[in-house]
Amino acid sequence: MISRRDFLVKLAKIASVVGGTGMILFDPSWQKFLSGEYLNIAFADTYLDEIIRSAPRARYWKPILLKGDNSSKEESIVRCLLCANGCAIVNGQRGRCRTRMNVNGELKSLVYGRPIAIHIDPIEKKPFYHFLPGTAAFSLATAGCPLHCKFCQNWDISQSSPEDHQVSFTTSAHIAHVAYTNKSPVIAYTYNEPTVFMEYLTDIARDAKKLGIRSVLVSCGFMKEEPLTEMCSVLDAIKIDLKGYSNDFYRNVCGAELQPVLKSIKQVAKSRVHLEIVNLVVPTLNDSDKMLQGLIDWILGEVGPDVPIHFSRFHPDYQMRNLPPTPVATLERAYNMAMSKGIHYPYVGNVPDHPGNKTYCPNCKKVLVERQAFFTTEMNIKNGRCKFCGRKIAGVWASRI
Ligand code: SF4
Repeated sequence: MISRRDFLVKLAKIASVVGGTGMILFDPSWQKFLSGEYLNIAFADTYLDEIIRSAPRARYWKPILLKGDNSSKEESIVRCLLCANGCAIVNGQRGRCRTRMNVNGELKSLVYGRPIAIHIDPIEKKPFYHFLPGTAAFSLATAGCPLHCKFCQNWDISQSSPEDHQVSFTTSAHIAHVAYTNKSPVIAYTYNEPTVFMEYLTDIARDAKKLGIRSVLVSCGFMKEEPLTEMCSVLDAIKIDLKGYSNDFYRNVCGAELQPVLKSIKQVAKSRVHLEIVNLVVPTLNDSDKMLQGLIDWILGEVGPDVPIHFSRFHPDYQMRNLPPTPVATLERAYNMAMSKGIHYPYVGNVPDHPGNKTYCPNCKKVLVERQAFFTTEMNIKNGRCKFCGRKIAGVWASRI
C-alpha cells in the first residue's frame, strides 16, 4: 500500500536517478507500480484513506432518524450501540474511541484487521490466576479505547488513533493460524480496550476455536449488553477492571460511568464464561476503606465469593505521574478486608512474589498454586479440587507444569 505522497516521493527519487520521468516506464521494477493494481492504491491520499476503504461495516449501531427528516445519506447521523458512551456520530466523524467512523451513513470499524501490538505473554500477566495456569497467551491489541483513564498504563496505544500505526491488514484466520503455529493454546485480546475491535476479536475467536484455541478478553467492561452477549458466546474467560466503587471516580478519573461496568460483571458471572476482576488501587483516589468495602460487599452480594479479585498496584504513568506507586500495605489492607469478609480468592497484584500472589484453599488453607513473578511454579489442584482436602476450586484448571 502506498499513499499519494509516498508515490510522488518515489517518483521524484526515481526521476533523479534515471534523469527524467519518461524513463520510468522502461524500468522493469516500476512496471508493477504502474499497473492498474498499484494505481488504485496510489490514489490514496493518506494511510487513513486506505484504512477507511478496507474498513468493514461495524456491528451494533443504528441510524438516527429525526422527525420529518429528509436529509440525504451523506448527511445522516448514526448512533453506535457498542459501548455505554452511545456516541451519535455525524458523517465523516468518529466516536470517542476514534475507531468507528460514520462513512456516508454507515458505521465502519477502522481497527478491524489492524493489530498494532502482538506479544506472547504468560496468562498470569493478564492477570488470570484461575484459568489454565502456566499457559502462553498470544496477545494482541489495536488502537483506541472508549475510556480516558488518567492512570492508563497502556495510554500510548489506548489513546492513539488507527492511523497512528501503519500496519498491514491481517485477516482473523491468519491471526488464528499464527497463534496455532506458535503453539499458543489461548489468544488474549488485551492492552487497549478490545471492545473497540469486537468484530475482529469475535471473528478471530471463531477461527481459533476451529483450531482448538481458546480466547480470553481483558476489558474495562464498558460495553453494552448485546455485544457482550455475542462476545460471551465465543470467549472462554473475561477479566474486567472494576476501577473503583464510585461514580465520581469513574467520571473524574476515567471519563466513564460505574453502572455499565457493574452490569457487565453481573452478565458475565451469569454466563458460562470464566470471570476474574481487577481493582487497580490508586493512592488517595480509590483506596479508602469506604470504597474498598463497597467494592468487596458488591462483589460478594452480586457475583459471590468464588470470583477471584486482584487488588493491583498502581505505577505512576500518563496523566498521573504526580502520585506515588501504591504502598504494599494498602494492597494488604484491601486483601485482608476481602479475606475477612469471605471472598475466597483475593490477590495482591503487581507485587512479585508477595504471599498474596498464591492461591489458598478456602477450606484447609493450604497453598494450592504457588507463583513466582508471572509464572506458576507449584500446582496442588487435581481435577479442579484441592489435592489435600478435596474441596472444589473455582476456575478452569489444567496445569502445564
Ligand atoms: S465504541 Fe466508540 S464509537 Fe461506539 S459508543 Fe463506544 S466510544 Fe462511541
